[in-house]
Amino acid sequence: MARDYYGILGVSAGASDQEIKRAYRKLARELHPDVNPDAEDKFKEVTTAYEVLSDPERRRIVDAGGDPLAGPSGGFGGDPFGAGGLGDIFQTFFGGATGGFGGGRGPRGRVRPGEPALVGVSLTLEEIAAGARKEITVDTAVLCDTCKGSGTRDDSKPVTCATCKGAGEIQAVQRSFLGQVMTVRECPECHGVGETIPDPCLKCGGDGRVRSRRTMTVKIPAGVQDGMRVRLAGQGEVGPGGGPAGDLYVEVSEQADDVFVRDGDDLHCTVRVPMVDAALGTELTVDTVLGGSATLTVEPGTQPGTVVRVRGQGLPHLNSGVRGDLHAHLDVVVPKRIDGRQSDLLRELREVSGEEVELVTATSKAAANGGLFSKLRNAFAGR
Ligand SMILES: [Zn+2]
Ligand SMILES: [Zn+2]
Repeated sequence: MARDYYGILGVSAGASDQEIKRAYRKLARELHPDVNPDAEDKFKEVTTAYEVLSDPERRRIVDAGGDPLAGPSGGFGGDPFGAGGLGDIFQTFFGGATGGFGGGRGPRGRVRPGEPALVGVSLTLEEIAAGARKEITVDTAVLCDTCKGSGTRDDSKPVTCATCKGAGEIQAVQRSFLGQVMTVRECPECHGVGETIPDPCLKCGGDGRVRSRRTMTVKIPAGVQDGMRVRLAGQGEVGPGGGPAGDLYVEVSEQADDVFVRDGDDLHCTVRVPMVDAALGTELTVDTVLGGSATLTVEPGTQPGTVVRVRGQGLPHLNSGVRGDLHAHLDVVVPKRIDGRQSDLLRELREVSGEEVELVTATSKAAANGGLFSKLRNAFAGR
């Protein structure tokens, strides 16, 4: 049931903001824990009531018969078995111990908190590296501006549900193998609200909310990972009866990149190095994820599969901005076609470097390297 916030402050439902503030100040002076240590709970209650009634949005919910602080209880959302599910059976068995059959359940009120909403947004690796502003389209329930959430037409009022007499639920006795079992079901007429609207708002049909599509821009911070969600408080679904909106979650998905493979904050790429450059050593320029370039040092005698690390050219870490590293995997390329002069030079190279070729079988090499990828190796003499 909704708490009587006006009653807690001792003011009428039509009280002005000034009257509410005055009533709170007076009570707060009397009940403050420094003055009156025994009144701590009462002080908290009064403070909560003031916080609710001094917030126009929350006060509107109170005036509509709801409780903005009700949260996921009273059969809404928090019941793991869902309203009308297994929870009813447990309540039947344990009802006596918790102070009465169906105790604390009652009608759940028409004004209830809204559900969260979820939309997806797809980012390139460059956008993840730099952070991005993305336009999204959301389709959620919003407050009905005709009835302001009350669900009623003009000045008409809701009436107590005739089927459940306002209880929001219907009890029935059933015979089963357990003997006589009492079950409690949500009232099918009012769906647990306890009242019905005989003359509903023409725009929303009594729900107090309508669906609306809007576009908005959402800021995605640099360094997010696939599957992460950005939460936008209060941008989700408005609740039944114009209840406070749930949150909107924007879930990030990362597009595959043609060049870089991501590993946390580090990036990996493959760089092709001509055979001669791998043997003699060189410096190469590679593109980085943020559109710049970095210089790679290829040491003389570089072997295929060598990984060169470029510090700070990976992705920024979420929130800290400290950047990971770029790992360049060097792919040594042997020319497929060579002309006569190149062929002569290579033959000459073979002669001066000697004929010594160390043949290592796949098995023995794998054992020596602890099972890593292996291949035949041509060891140049003296290197
Ligand atoms: Zn309406
Ligand atoms: Zn009913």
